[in-house]
This record gives sequence, C-alpha cells and structure tokens, in this order.
Amino acid sequence: MNLILLGPPGAGKGTQAKHLQERYGVAQISTGDMLRAEVAAGSEIGLQARSVMEAGHLISDNIIIRMLSARIDQPDCAHGFILDGFPRTDPQAQALDSMLAGKHVQLDAVIELEVDDAVLVDRISGRFTCAKCGTGYHDHFKPLAVSGICDVCGSHNFARRPDDKRETVSARLAAYHTQTAPILPHYAALGRLHAVDGMAEIDQVTRQIVAVLDNLKAISPA
Ligand code: AMP
Repeated sequence: MNLILLGPPGAGKGTQAKHLQERYGVAQISTGDMLRAEVAAGSEIGLQARSVMEAGHLISDNIIIRMLSARIDQPDCAHGFILDGFPRTDPQAQALDSMLAGKHVQLDAVIELEVDDAVLVDRISGRFTCAKCGTGYHDHFKPLAVSGICDVCGSHNFARRPDDKRETVSARLAAYHTQTAPILPHYAALGRLHAVDGMAEIDQVTRQIVAVLDNLKAISPA
C-alpha cells in the first residue's frame, strides 16, 4: 500500500500516519522529521534548512527531492509507504511521479485531511511531545495526566517545535495554500484523491481513512 497524506500543518498527518503505519505495516516517511533530524545532527542540509523551517517557509525542491528519493530506496519501503509532508509543491509531485514510474510502483491513494485554518492555529500552537518516547500532547486538547510527567514513559523532558509558534504558523499555512493545495487537482485527475474530514476526533479520522483504503482493496483486482 503506497499512500500520500496531504493537508495543512496541524491537520493530523503525523498522527494518522503513525496509526496507519502500525495497521498496515508500511514505512512512514515524514520529510519534516527527516529535516529535524538533519538540523539536530548539524549536517550540511540541517544547517541550510534550520532558518527556512523556523521562518515557516519550504525547503528547496532539489534538497527535498534528493532526500526523499534516497529514503524511498530503503528496504523498509518495499512493502509500501505513507508519505507525510511530501510532496508539497508541483515540482515535488512531478518528481514523485517519475520516481514511482521508474520503480514500477503504483500510488494507491492520496488522502487529503480537510481542516479549517482557524482551528489549525490553536491545534499547532499548543502541541508538544515527550523528548524521550515521542508521544504527542496538547496544552488544551490532550494535556498530561500528571503535570510535567509523560503518561507513557514517565520522562520529565518535553519539546516544542520552534516552528509551532503562533507567528510562524500563518507563514506555514500560507505556504500550504499557495504551494501545496494547487497539487490536489493533479491527484484528482488521476482518480487517486480522497478527502476526509480532518476536524473529527482522531479515531474517527482514522476510521474514515481505513474505510477509504478498505474500499480500494475491495474494488482493486486481486
Ligand atoms: P512538517 O513536519 O511536515 O510540518 O514540516 C516542517 C517543515 O519542514 C516545513 O514547514 C518545511 O519548512 C520543511 N519541509 C518538510 N517537508 C517539506 C517538503 N516536502 N518540501 C519543503 N519543505 C518541507
């Protein structure tokens, strides 16, 4: 199963990708996570990417396409993948088409998570993760059971993304509307685009996505 999750920042792509990864046993590929790892490692890509990410802008297509192309060649992608945060521009979508065609790999579905902009700012600006186990929380929507202690692993260390500040979120939303949303018609024309209501509860969103995927399996030839 090869999927793309598309949607604005804060739509829940990462959360849904993790559920789907567990359910279908496919690789989750988040270009944002890959870039944050490069920044943390202080690599050449990380040094270039850091200020661009903190400003809420997109990293250049060349860098991202090279990075994604190397990742998709890894053995864990042979059973399928979920792309979370890629493609984000028309050149990235075109490059992905060529990569997949070259590998004779079919894209099964593009899931668009639809969420209103007003909701996204509140969702993003309150989120944080456990620095040890990566569990995601939110100041209002998913607070810690005991203040200062991770519910899952008991760690006292938490992290907030520097680009989750309220002032950066509007730049990230603008990038989504001007550069990413225009690629949706490409996938609609290919008959691959499925929109789901990303405003629903997390479990309900997962159920909607699973229903789309089950339906695809039911109609695809064995
Ligand atoms: P994300 O974790 O997907 O919200 O990505 C965080 C940031 O990483 C974005 O705001 C961009 O600066 C950068 N980024 C992630 N994926 C891409 C991509 N496909 N193209 C360009 N920039 C990206």
